Amino acid sequence: MTEVLPDEALSEREPIGRARSAPSGRAARPRVLFVSHTGTMSGAELVLRDAVQPWTGSTAFLFEDGTLAEALRGQGLEIRLAHRRTALTALRRDASPLSALPLLGRLGALMVEIARAARRCDVVYANSQKAFLLSALAARAVGRPLIWHLHDILDSAHFGRAQRILQVRLANLSAARVIVPSEAAARAFVSAGGRRSLVRVVPNGLDLERDPRPAASLRAELGLPAGPLVGVFSRIAPWKGQDVLIDALATLPGLRCIVVGAPLFGEDSYAAHLRDLAAARGLSDRILFLGQRDDVPRLMQAVDVVVHPSVDPEPFGRTLVEAMLAGVPVIATDTGASAEILDGEATGTLVPPRRPDRLAAALSELLGNPDAYAARTDRARARALSRYGASRMQHDLADLILEAVGRT
Ligand code: UDP
Repeated sequence: MTEVLPDEALSEREPIGRARSAPSGRAARPRVLFVSHTGTMSGAELVLRDAVQPWTGSTAFLFEDGTLAEALRGQGLEIRLAHRRTALTALRRDASPLSALPLLGRLGALMVEIARAARRCDVVYANSQKAFLLSALAARAVGRPLIWHLHDILDSAHFGRAQRILQVRLANLSAARVIVPSEAAARAFVSAGGRRSLVRVVPNGLDLERDPRPAASLRAELGLPAGPLVGVFSRIAPWKGQDVLIDALATLPGLRCIVVGAPLFGEDSYAAHLRDLAAARGLSDRILFLGQRDDVPRLMQAVDVVVHPSVDPEPFGRTLVEAMLAGVPVIATDTGASAEILDGEATGTLVPPRRPDRLAAALSELLGNPDAYAARTDRARARALSRYGASRMQHDLADLILEAVGRT
């Protein structure tokens, strides 16, 4: 259903959406139903928070309450929460679709709720895999176009075979567009059987203010130690590979590390394993576990190097772009989208995944000769500013939303 808006309201988003004026002199813009299964903010939800910014007055349907709901309310969206709140954590990415059987009643109820909300909108925009599966059926039931913003790499490292098949078949049948953040994610979708013509790559975009103070003052304020310091800023999860950095550190005496992030999706045993590993390697006094933080950019500016040690392919890796914007050298594993973001090694160092020895060698080289990397770090910041800004992402997404509604 198209909401008719006064011209003043439209003018707020005219640069983004190319929406047209209605003959009455009033303007029409589509209403979007954004759907997310989780209420927790990881990268995909931070992207959604920024993506909805031009769509005030649209609706978000969330399976559960939480920090995402708070952030979207702050953006002027109508928030609808599922009647029975659930992030469907029992449905694991590597599990057989048969594991959904006991939840069929709940899934059906969620689908009906999404369909009801979709009836009041022009287009459905699913921001997660679980949201997509249910939105596909709901959107079809009420005849609305569906966009899937696929924030994952659809490969065997991240999803079971049956789930991959189910997702791509449903996408081929029912999605007007599949938006992915990188060529790596596009390739994985197509390799899993997804139709290439559905896919559009829209790199994640974000804006960060750099703190003008030098790293030493930031460290003093943040209570961080002096001397060589590296940081890893991913959420705590086995595939993010924090253990590889700990192993690398064991061979680099005098180097300290901050581990920033928390196990957001139930990876508590891996978090405990990291602390045990640090103790077993005799590194408890050199590794600081800082937990989930809301001052990542400042922390990044305070370290000498940001390490991104994912062991499985990264669909994007916002933290890479944040480090580039912070003006800090980056070492990342050469898997998934890292090479795309860093332009090969033009703006960062790439090492093979699961190789603490190679990571240690790269750290040693960089920390031993920081001046040699200053120009590269400047290039990284320039690249991030020119390619990965929030407004470019918002424009690209808005174009795709309008195209799906049939307005371009
Ligand atoms: N992040 C944060 N606090 C933390 C750890 C991470 O705010 O303690 C943010 C980080 O700055 C980045 C996002 O979480 O913006 C993670 O996004 P990314 O794409 O790197 O990884 P994801 O978690 O989506 O796989």
